[in-house]
Amino acid sequence: MINVILLGPPGAGKGTQAKRLEQKHELVQLSTGDMLRAAVASGSELGRQAKKVMEAGQLMPDDIIIAMIAERIDRPDTKKGFILDGFPRTTAQAKALDKMLAERGLKLDLVIELKVDDAVLVERISGRFACAKCGAGYHDLYQRPKIEGRCDRCGATEFVRRPDDNAETVKARLAAYHAQTAPILPYYAQRGVLRSVNGMADIDEVAAQIEALISELRPG
Ligand code: AMP
Repeated sequence: MINVILLGPPGAGKGTQAKRLEQKHELVQLSTGDMLRAAVASGSELGRQAKKVMEAGQLMPDDIIIAMIAERIDRPDTKKGFILDGFPRTTAQAKALDKMLAERGLKLDLVIELKVDDAVLVERISGRFACAKCGAGYHDLYQRPKIEGRCDRCGATEFVRRPDDNAETVKARLAAYHAQTAPILPYYAQRGVLRSVNGMADIDEVAAQIEALISELRPG
């Protein structure tokens, strides 16, 4: 069992790398952003609140997010380990996670920071889109479908863009990252679980760097 956090600014590649890890190892990706988008799509009360907060590029209240992730960790599919993507995003969330893991006799093995310059992030985020059916990720400049208009993975022909992936909201999301999330890094560095990778490299190279870190935990 390996429990990993992918930490980094919006557009750093957390979701992309989490999906790779999920396929390669028997781990499950826990993305609080995906959970909130599902709530928005369901039209629930939580979804209505999340829609406003996400469109403003701000963070949801800690207590809501913490309860959401605790409920998710308790499902049986996390038994072989999980990859946290987009959580924790504040010091309060990081502390709540420690408590949650301790209460369940679980351990945090590794926190992987994806380091990417802000200027690159804006370009990355504004070009991204995904298959409406299977969620495979694409980019206008860097990763177009092999056959134009058709998903490489499932063949579907409809694609979606996140409403919060626009230049204005991205600025607010980056500001939230620097003010509220980056301060968690020293918290994990002190405990010796933090490793940083160069998130500016291409997707395969970043995946290889992450793989090297995982194999240090899981020799052979
Ligand atoms: P993401 O898909 O991780 O980029 O998240 C999209 C949006 O969901 C963020 O900009 C926040 O508004 C909200 N969100 C996701 N995860 C969290 C979290 N851990 N804490 C607070 N807000 C979150």
